[in-house]
Amino acid sequence: MLESSFMTSLIKDEYDIIVIGSGLAGMTAANVLARSKHRVLLLEKHYKLGGMATWFHRKGGHVFDISLHGFPVGMIKSCRRYWNTKIADRIVVLPRIKFDNPQFSITTTFNRDDFTRLLVTQFQIPEDRVKEFFDTARSMSHLDNAAMTAKELFDRFFPGREDVVRLLMEPITYANGSTLEDPALTYGIVFSNFMSKGVYTFQGGTDLLVRLMREELIASGVDIVVSADVQKINTGGGRVRNVVVNGREIRTKAVLSNANLKGTIFSLVGKEHFSSDFIDEADAVRLNNSSTQVYIAIKPGETLDEEVCGDLLFSSTAPAFRTDMLLSRNITSRTYSFYYPKTRPDANRYYVVASTNANYSDWANLSKTDYEQSKRDLIDDTLGALQKYVPNIREIVEYTEAATPMTFEHYTGHWGGSSFGTKFEGLAVSRKLPQQIAGLYHAGSVGIIMSGWLGAVNYGVIVANDIDAWMLEEKRKRLGS
Ligand SMILES: Cc1cc2nc3c(=O)[nH]c(=O)nc-3n(C[C@H](O)[C@H](O)[C@H](O)COP(=O)(O)OP(=O)(O)OC[C@H]3O[C@@H](n4cnc5c(N)ncnc54)[C@H](O)[C@@H]3O)c2cc1C
Repeated sequence: MLESSFMTSLIKDEYDIIVIGSGLAGMTAANVLARSKHRVLLLEKHYKLGGMATWFHRKGGHVFDISLHGFPVGMIKSCRRYWNTKIADRIVVLPRIKFDNPQFSITTTFNRDDFTRLLVTQFQIPEDRVKEFFDTARSMSHLDNAAMTAKELFDRFFPGREDVVRLLMEPITYANGSTLEDPALTYGIVFSNFMSKGVYTFQGGTDLLVRLMREELIASGVDIVVSADVQKINTGGGRVRNVVVNGREIRTKAVLSNANLKGTIFSLVGKEHFSSDFIDEADAVRLNNSSTQVYIAIKPGETLDEEVCGDLLFSSTAPAFRTDMLLSRNITSRTYSFYYPKTRPDANRYYVVASTNANYSDWANLSKTDYEQSKRDLIDDTLGALQKYVPNIREIVEYTEAATPMTFEHYTGHWGGSSFGTKFEGLAVSRKLPQQIAGLYHAGSVGIIMSGWLGAVNYGVIVANDIDAWMLEEKRKRLGS
């Protein structure tokens, strides 16, 4: 086992599996495979592990989380089983989820019981209709027919009720980028995951989570190299042969790419190595949207009111829920994550991270001057909007910074700065890779269901198990039994 930034001499010449990328899917797969006694090398182009599950420090002792806003309870079980109890035991519920928009203002624990109560008492929906809706959403599986859209699902159960659609859909759009036009099942699976017990977070912050994961990877025997930008996956005779990283070739039997699906196919391998039908299918995969974020640090000694702000606040001034409005540069909807001292009990600090969904194209073509000005405008507009909940925010703020789709693209290499990988059709393409090239696998944000912290961890496990089974079969063939 070794851990280093790129130190050529310490890396072995050959591994059983090379994992490219240390997002939650990549790290989880590496851990599962190393526990099964495979020789695993984990290569990460950034100087730290985590991918989108990341954080950054700023002067004044500030630490900001990027994607620690909330995930379903299933993360506890997955972390206990595929990581360790130290990690699982730090996953705690977020008690106050708030919505505030022109159609309604509510506080909820964001689970089935509380949503049923709200839908029946506040939205006046018959209880049996609510029950049928929840049961239908819960029975959806990724093997289902994907023809019905989320809009059609809502029209079936709540025709003409834009307010109900907003309550049910808006948080999921933020959680995984899915829209009313996406398949209903991509909505149903994620919604049901949250509804089982509410929204959870990791106490201690993303930095602690990734530190604990790194320790576990090392204990499992994974060789980890950061600042290791993989340029090429070389294939020959229909199978994976080696990867090229910082100019050096490392032989391997299998590669699991946690990099962007399209980047894996078109840049790391090259389209000439796949069948033309497959390339047509991969070409047609749509990327998911990107995000902007504004990070706000509160002066030491100042506080935020937990009762008023809640833990997660879905705030909008738009008259109704519409996907194009959520993505528009003219921002009407923001999700605020409020971080209290309970997030990092050692540091008595308060932070706000305001997130919006965003189109890459709105940011990609700006001049440097316009880009910097747009970031300043984004920060200023966000502080203005936040005044509704924290009236003295401009006086108590100590530090602000903005991230755009360009930021996410820069740090993770995701095409289009995509926050949640690809749309639904990406899942089938990701699964078909090993049929195209033996030993070539992909795990990471695809298909909405496999995105987000829980989706990424679980997809990492699924693909690690595929690789394990394939390696066993290869061994059996080699031994002629
Ligand atoms: C702003 C924002 C907010 C979010 N909020 C939430 C949330 O509240 N809850 C939730 O569940 N999810 C959230 N997500 C989504 C979640 O963070 C991601 O779905 C998940 O972390 C993705 O994990 P992944 O395994 O797909 O890999 P990624 O995180 O995409 O990581 C891929 C890794 O591969 C590396 N890589 C790429 N190319 C190469 C190469 N050539 N060589 C070496 N390394 C390479 C990258 O550097 C990166 O580290 C959010 C995402 C964003 C952007």
